[in-house]
Amino acid sequence: MMFRRMTRAMCLAIFLVLLAGAGKIAASDLFLRMDPALTGLAGLAMRSLTWIWLPAVIVMASALLAGRIFCGYICPMGTTIDVADKCLAPAPKKQKASYAPSARLKYYILTFAAGAALCGVTFVYWAAPLSLITRFYGLVVYPVVLMIGDQAVTAFYPIASRMDLRTLMFLEIDPPRFATGFFVLLFFAAVFAAARISPRFWCRYLCPSGALLAILSRKPLIRRRVSPDCNQCGICVRNCPMAAIDPDAPEQARHEECIVCRQCESICPKNAVAFSADAATARRLHPSVSPARRQVIFSGIAGAATASVALTGLNVVARDLSEKGTVREARIIRPPGALPEPDFLEACVRCGQCMAACPTNTLQPVWFEAGLLGLFSPAVTPRRKYCDPECTACGNTCPTGAIQKIASAERTWAKIGTAVIYRQQCLAWEYKKSCMVCDEVCPYDALEFEKRPDLPYPVPHVKEDRCAGCGHCEHACPVYNQAAIVVTPMDAIRLRPGQSFEYAAKSRGFKLKKEPQDQKPASAAPAYPGADIPDGRAPQPPGMAPGFDEGG
Ligand code: SF4
Ligand code: SF4
Repeated sequence: MMFRRMTRAMCLAIFLVLLAGAGKIAASDLFLRMDPALTGLAGLAMRSLTWIWLPAVIVMASALLAGRIFCGYICPMGTTIDVADKCLAPAPKKQKASYAPSARLKYYILTFAAGAALCGVTFVYWAAPLSLITRFYGLVVYPVVLMIGDQAVTAFYPIASRMDLRTLMFLEIDPPRFATGFFVLLFFAAVFAAARISPRFWCRYLCPSGALLAILSRKPLIRRRVSPDCNQCGICVRNCPMAAIDPDAPEQARHEECIVCRQCESICPKNAVAFSADAATARRLHPSVSPARRQVIFSGIAGAATASVALTGLNVVARDLSEKGTVREARIIRPPGALPEPDFLEACVRCGQCMAACPTNTLQPVWFEAGLLGLFSPAVTPRRKYCDPECTACGNTCPTGAIQKIASAERTWAKIGTAVIYRQQCLAWEYKKSCMVCDEVCPYDALEFEKRPDLPYPVPHVKEDRCAGCGHCEHACPVYNQAAIVVTPMDAIRLRPGQSFEYAAKSRGFKLKKEPQDQKPASAAPAYPGADIPDGRAPQPPGMAPGFDEGG
């Protein structure tokens, strides 16, 4: 048991370290690529079979050899649920010794997701354990930990300054925030609360990866063996977290449900249980839980049908007839390196790893802005923060290649959109103020100013062939609420793997060139205190706000 506890703790720690280093360290997506349902069904939806799925193949091979050891030892979702079970599950004596056929539900979830994947739609992220747990730690726990750190640093500031601890005095922690964080939290509250019904409720009944591994674990080479010393006391039945042991015949177990936790072995007062590759037990295999064929077919068809409806855009039509069936909202800006939209939606498994890796926190999960198919997918939100023109973190960490890795030489050319100016909002155009904030912060020198006879100050224009859509301007625009300069996905370069961003950009006539950083201020203040928009329109800069000059 000690070995298992240490292995699980170590795997969880490695998972967390990789997540914290997402985008910065190699193989930060390793655990995601181990998830067999996630990788298998994303690969099916993408119609792609590449070496990146190798870790999942190894996990599946391990199930043939030793059963569901991935579930029992490696899966961070399982370990997290075990911790929640420790706190919330009733004592083993009070648990019903179930041996339930409802464990079939997970097979139907798997076939539902497989039906959708056959139609090119990825729904597996709703239930795949690694996608869920990465979202939980990356989008909920990580920001909370940083927020606590930030509070601690603030509280410690007086002591640090008295002791002249400069590193602590000037330490700044900027906790990220994510749009769907609260939803993810509620989802996990329900998953953890299910411990009141049974331990490892998720793994027993709902996990599609567990189902896939269960199919491969019906006759593992190394499995539970019970010697004739067993006196049928049933203590192992009550303590098995997966209800894998037959209450009427404790010497028998459903190996496909067993996660090799070896609880039964350690708790048996007669030392009658052992896990070994004993060929003699092969003849005494217990009948498996077989999902009903009709329900398997039905759930597969249901998945395919749901995917088809989502693909036609009917879901969006039902929501708003004025949208004329488009499934993609016009203003979704995908991160640099994102595949063309349909391929991107097939490949993205909504793990949120890219968002956790994004150093500026501009990447946010979207709700239904991109239709049902785009739910929880990542989008750049320049008003919140810009996309760093030198950063490739999201592509470096994406497990499926939905966001491609971009070589740093190519990064400048990976245009994600184009800024447009809303003149009726602009201080220079509409309110006849002097403002050049967008020009000051633009790293691509994509703004030019025109002196017009009818206006007192020069007014901005976007040089579209120079704009990369990074969003520095939209982020910094001092107009409150909606900025006067806004990045749209117009002219975004979305390529398939193997194509060159530089070639694509040059052949479309773009002249993207980043200005040396030291010639630009890092970032202008995004707004000025006291500014407001009377009647929801005009901002009023108080006195000499940054970037303004009332002069003249
Ligand atoms: S795009 Fe982001 S959320 Fe989607 S699979 Fe890649 S890393 Fe995960
Ligand atoms: S490239 Fe942009 S969107 Fe992607 S992680 Fe970096 S800053 Fe965020």
